This record gives sequence, C-alpha cells and structure tokens, in this order.
Amino acid sequence: MAREEILIVEDEEDILELTIYNLSKEGYRPSGVTSGEEALKKIRTKPPDMIILDLMLPGIDGLEVSRILKKDPKLQGIPLIILTAKGEEADIVSGLELGADDYIVKPFSPRVLIARIRAVLRRKSRESVDEDHPVTMGDILIHPGRHEVTINGKRVDLTYTEFRVLHFLASRPGWAFTRYQIVDAVRGDNYPVTDRSVDVLVVGLRKKLGNYSKYIETVRGVGYRFKEML
Ligand code: CA
Repeated sequence: MAREEILIVEDEEDILELTIYNLSKEGYRPSGVTSGEEALKKIRTKPPDMIILDLMLPGIDGLEVSRILKKDPKLQGIPLIILTAKGEEADIVSGLELGADDYIVKPFSPRVLIARIRAVLRRKSRESVDEDHPVTMGDILIHPGRHEVTINGKRVDLTYTEFRVLHFLASRPGWAFTRYQIVDAVRGDNYPVTDRSVDVLVVGLRKKLGNYSKYIETVRGVGYRFKEML
C-alpha cells in the first residue's frame, strides 16, 4: 500500500492538526509546517510525495511558494493542492496557472480532502500517457491521430480548435483548467484564441456533443473541466 508523505503548509493550527489527524487515519504519512519559509526548507531537505499548501500565509505566501517550487526542476513535479478561502477565485486561477494540480476551498470536509488527494495521486501516476493515444471516456472516443471524435461509434464533426480543446480537457478528467491554460494549450493554431473565445468555443462544443455536453463542466470563477468518471 502506498504510504505517501504529505506535507501540509497551514498557519491555522487547528486546521493543521485536524488535517494531520485525518491523513494519518487514512494511512498517509503527514507532517506540518506553519509558514512558507519552513515549507521551502523542509521540501528542499526531503521532498515529500505531495504538498497541501494554504495560500494565505504570513511571510512568503502560498502563491510565492508555488512559484518557487514550480521553477525548481527538482521540485516542480511534486503534486500540489492549494487551499483557499471562499471567494478567492483570483487566487485559485493564479494557483492553477502556476501549476497546482487541484484546489480546495475552505472550510472543507476531511472526506473531500482525502478524495482530492487520492484523485491527484491517481492522475499523477497515469500522467505519462501518450499524447497520440486514443482517449475513451464512457461512450466518447477521442482519436488524436485521426483528429476524430465518435460518440457510440457515430462521428462528431468538430473544428480543429474544438477538437484540440476537447482533447486537452478530456486527457485530464476531473482537472479544472483556467481559460488561459486552455488558450495556452491550443495556441499555435491559426484560430486566434482569447479568454472570451474559449467560452464561445465551449458553447459550440457542447452543442455538438448533444446529450454528452454535460461532460464539459463549468467551474465557476475558474474555467472548465472534463467530468471525471469514476
Ligand atoms: Ca492561512
């Protein structure tokens, strides 16, 4: 059984203690620090298997810690979940754009936290998927080599950019992406993609997916994600 070491960076001691308690109960090996400075020191000394990082910290804040981690080739691959308070969508967007794997809004239940940790660890372990490999999500088959999407064997006619957006989202189900990240992923196409046009693209894509449009979920204040099928 995997017994991942998880570092929790949180200055609110009661949340820190409760999180450590719940993660130990699940069999993980959690440890905690209460500042960004301590976190960086500890991560550099012995990189954990995952980091849960509160964004509102005294001193170096969480976003700055993420920025430093993601710039370091030795540390940038560590799965990272950020914690934010309600209503701080701008921070969530920045965190995801800096490379966080997921986010949790406070107050959160231990069950939600555990589920997110599992999901991120699971995704990370399958991350080395071949970009040209067909993606199957329920009845939807996305074939990057052929640039073709079929639902129950029936071909769906998508534009090149719609295809790219769908493939990008569906390759990482459950993962929330900001509009900017989506733009970035499909950049290089002839179509001039902006934040606004991502919304327009998604509307078109959903229309073409018909009953399956619900698989592209809107994440309020953040962007979009492809529904995770468990
Ligand atoms: Ca805090």
